[in-house]
Amino acid sequence: MPISKLRKRDVIIAGGGPAGIIAAIAAARNGADTLLIEQNGYVGGTAAMGLPMLSFHNNRGEQIVAGIPWELITRLKEMDEAVVVRMAGGSSSAGAGGGAQRNALYKGGSVYAAMSVPVRPEAFKYAAWKMLEEAGVEVLLYTYVTRVVSTGGKVTGIVLENKSGRQRVDGKCIVDCTGDGDVAALSGAPFEKGRSADGVTQPLTMLFVLGGIDLDRAEAEGVAVRRNMEVVDSPVWQSFYRKYDIRLDRWKDRLLKDFPRSGVDKGFILRYWGDGVCYGGNMLHVPYYDASKGEELSRAVVEGRNLVWNLVRFMRENVPGFDRVHLVNTYNIGVRESRRITGHYLLTYEDVIEARRHEDDIALNGYFVDIHDYDGSWFHLPDRGTQIKDYGSYGIPYRCLLPQSVDRLLVAGRCLSTSHEAHASARVMGTCMAMGQAAGTAAALSVRGRTTPRALDSKKLLEALEAQGAMVR
Ligand SMILES: Cc1cc2nc3c(=O)[nH]c(=O)nc-3n(C[C@H](O)[C@H](O)[C@H](O)COP(=O)(O)OP(=O)(O)OC[C@H]3O[C@@H](n4cnc5c(N)ncnc54)[C@H](O)[C@@H]3O)c2cc1C
Repeated sequence: MPISKLRKRDVIIAGGGPAGIIAAIAAARNGADTLLIEQNGYVGGTAAMGLPMLSFHNNRGEQIVAGIPWELITRLKEMDEAVVVRMAGGSSSAGAGGGAQRNALYKGGSVYAAMSVPVRPEAFKYAAWKMLEEAGVEVLLYTYVTRVVSTGGKVTGIVLENKSGRQRVDGKCIVDCTGDGDVAALSGAPFEKGRSADGVTQPLTMLFVLGGIDLDRAEAEGVAVRRNMEVVDSPVWQSFYRKYDIRLDRWKDRLLKDFPRSGVDKGFILRYWGDGVCYGGNMLHVPYYDASKGEELSRAVVEGRNLVWNLVRFMRENVPGFDRVHLVNTYNIGVRESRRITGHYLLTYEDVIEARRHEDDIALNGYFVDIHDYDGSWFHLPDRGTQIKDYGSYGIPYRCLLPQSVDRLLVAGRCLSTSHEAHASARVMGTCMAMGQAAGTAAALSVRGRTTPRALDSKKLLEALEAQGAMVR
């Protein structure tokens, strides 16, 4: 079948999640004719699933991600669709019974995330779209990247598929923000998956929205335990936003039997967004699927939806306050980890917990090493603990965005070059967006300077990023 050709672009961004959105805006603002390709009918990726954004601040409460990502958050805050939340006196993400156990095992303290930024998902999709439009990015939705065109170790274009059929689009520089590193893998770049012993990744999770919960009753009966936190800067959100650990320990034996390998016996997190609507499901696990394989991803979705549906029915029949609960929505299944592209620098566990900095750091991260257990049961704790030294921040070098063996290609977001343990820290959304700003800017500067991302002077990149408000030191 002949392949039609689209107009050649300066920069092509594959994947419109947190990293890809910001990469595309950054590339376009730096003068590049930019095309963003997204398989869904909206932009947002995992940011469109109602999760709070982490790592805009480190665990001392200092802001460490600014620039275009913070501009997007500021816009959402002005729309009253996002807010900054400070956890009072530290917090564990472990929910129900696992909290104390997990905190005891932390080396260096019990803080999970001192600050987070809850964002309404529909508003995220809308505001991100507006910023893409204003920057002049062209977006192709419902479009899947299926092949890479390259010559002499340089990527020169991609092949995509959508309702129009198969099309080729050439680009001077490509940025892979697919989360799974699809473009880099198709181009022959080396990658790793999962833990070093056997490649098993962190479990997947099907996030959901529930309605009809009587939270007052659930609280009174000890099923819903309210987190101690402060909504920092919005009287509107102060009036309704609450975060709960749902505790299901009293049904433990039955849950272990009916919902094995999901971790649900230890409970899960719900965030209350007013009007009886709760977003949540984080901590429900769907383990042992490789999300970079089509058939496994499909099976994981089926298992995840069955889990959620059966759990909601269980809660309706058994759990006080949930007798009128109903499932409003499930999302695409959430993937914590799949391919990690091997770059010119591999960020390590030691880099993370020792809060190391590098001379070509393009972003900072202050989130701990958060490994959900491989068998779905709960959390895995690495030998030297999970916390970053002094609750500080570490740097992500530009070289983590440069795949080995191929040029004119950058990666950004959760497919960056890290060890398995370091990935468990670097994968959070604030950091993915900051990487996106760096990758998009690097792509545009490479095109403008008639060079390649690998040959780009990283000092010039850092100067440009700082001039655009990004925090790199
Ligand atoms: C269950 C769960 C809970 C989490 N909790 C939090 C949290 O509370 N706070 C936090 O900050 N982070 C959290 N994370 C981590 C964070 O959400 C992700 O790591 C982050 O969103 C990754 O961003 P990304 O842009 O790299 O990838 P993604 O968000 O995965 O976006 C990738 C985009 O690329 C598109 N795409 C993929 N392949 C193709 C292709 N071949 N062609 C075209 N488009 C393609 C996808 O549709 C998607 O839009 C969580 C993750 C999961 C799974």
